[in-house]
Amino acid sequence: MGFDVHQLEADRDFYLGGIKLEGAPKGAVGHSDADVLIHAICDAILGAANLGDIGHHFSNTDVRWKGKDSKYFLEEVTRMVHANGWTIGNVDCTVCLEKPKINPHIGAMKKVLAPLMKIGEDDVSIKATTNETLGYVGRDEGVLAYAVALIQKY
Ligand code: MG
Repeated sequence: MGFDVHQLEADRDFYLGGIKLEGAPKGAVGHSDADVLIHAICDAILGAANLGDIGHHFSNTDVRWKGKDSKYFLEEVTRMVHANGWTIGNVDCTVCLEKPKINPHIGAMKKVLAPLMKIGEDDVSIKATTNETLGYVGRDEGVLAYAVALIQKY
């Protein structure tokens, strides 16, 4: 299982699930492109294979990852688990965000994420919820994501 949080700030691009959310009022802050959904998925997959976490492999103090497209991390994580004798079965995710609504973008995210993990779009589940205006997510100060991954030995 994986979990990640990023702060939201005005006048920033918002990358989520491997795509840029056009017209979003705020964007996520981070060392890389701050794609909270991809980061949670990477941690879920790495955790399932007992290969540490995303911070271990892609430190947020390493200049190589500054502004980095997180799709690269997911591709690398997939390569690592394959190298350790695993294939990815499916992933299930929940994004918790007040706005914008991401349901219209979920199809596009699946299309981008599935090939990075060498699985079909049907094996990528992305769900979305608000935080009912409560807490930092409710105040639109942050975005968080949970992910669960199933992997299997080949
Ligand atoms: Mg992160």
